[in-house]
Amino acid sequence: MLHEATLYRPLKKGYVQCTACEHFCAIEPEGMGKCGIRRNYDGALYLVVYGEAAALHVDPVEKKPLFHFLPTQPVLSLGTVGCNFTCQFCQNWQISQSGASAVVLGRPSRLPKTSKAGGQGSGQQAMPADIVAHCRQAGIPMLAYTYNEPAVFFEYACDTARLAHQHGIRNLFVSSGFETLAALEAIEPYLDAINIDLKAWSDTFYRQVCGTRLQPVLRNIEHIATKTKIWIEITTLLIPGLNDDEAELRAMAAWLASLSPDLPWHISAFHPDYQMLDRPPTPQRSLVRAWEIGQEAGLRYVYLGNVHDGHRASTFCPACNTLLVSRNWYTVRQHWREPGVCHGCGATMPGVWAGGMVNW
Ligand code: SF4
Repeated sequence: MLHEATLYRPLKKGYVQCTACEHFCAIEPEGMGKCGIRRNYDGALYLVVYGEAAALHVDPVEKKPLFHFLPTQPVLSLGTVGCNFTCQFCQNWQISQSGASAVVLGRPSRLPKTSKAGGQGSGQQAMPADIVAHCRQAGIPMLAYTYNEPAVFFEYACDTARLAHQHGIRNLFVSSGFETLAALEAIEPYLDAINIDLKAWSDTFYRQVCGTRLQPVLRNIEHIATKTKIWIEITTLLIPGLNDDEAELRAMAAWLASLSPDLPWHISAFHPDYQMLDRPPTPQRSLVRAWEIGQEAGLRYVYLGNVHDGHRASTFCPACNTLLVSRNWYTVRQHWREPGVCHGCGATMPGVWAGGMVNW
């Protein structure tokens, strides 16, 4: 379904500039942005997959991954086709890398703000009201905008998130962190938590492997961690020979710790996928070394993911080393008597540990 975008500005000669992500695509008449789902019709920008979910699944919140945000609670996860990144290792590439090709595009004659004409066929019809109603009926307390980058389907995500908040449902972004500040400002009132991929500490990696840039991602992580109340966790997928250089990992960990030693850092194991089938899976020793580097930098909550390593996926009190939350894959057990409070020494753990649906 076509829906006029909120994040764009008109340019000369019928062009428009999308302001949802840091590509700032200048889109010619009838043209499409890099993400493949935002199109210029008559000098106005339209999201062509509004209300069309390419994926809609219930997951545990640990799968996002968010470890310090309502542990064990279910999340309804929503994504569309299209993405602003072209990561060669993408694990959701069937969704993220099929943009315009997955959408049956036609040329509508007159365009209201929302129109069925023009974009159909990229997934299951699911309007914001349908999604929120489903959460309410099923008692699901959280919605995640994930699988592809939520900035590219921003208006669909934002309308759903706003409605979700009206009904006490929390909103999570799983993001590559390439949103514009305008997009972050618009979603901030409705966004409760975010996991941002920090894919590497090298701009060359971002340009050559993902088709983007590092600097806006760092700016957004810093902005969210230091200037907003949105709960944030970071994920790095460790790819052998590409982003696992020790000096780079040390620099990344030191920078994260400088924002806050309480910022959880997930180090995730790579498995060959999409266009990156020539690399081996991440060896356990590299994961453990990265985990140690995070600890040495002063990060208090460093976690390994995509591997069976219960010890390095669990939460311990940084003050007295008491085991608070044990995890092995998606098996989670909370040991504390009062959520968020260490039963060994009484220290308070950073995060959002209790509460289902809330009244805003
Ligand atoms: S969201 Fe899409 S159209 Fe907009 S700037 Fe990013 S890649 Fe371009």
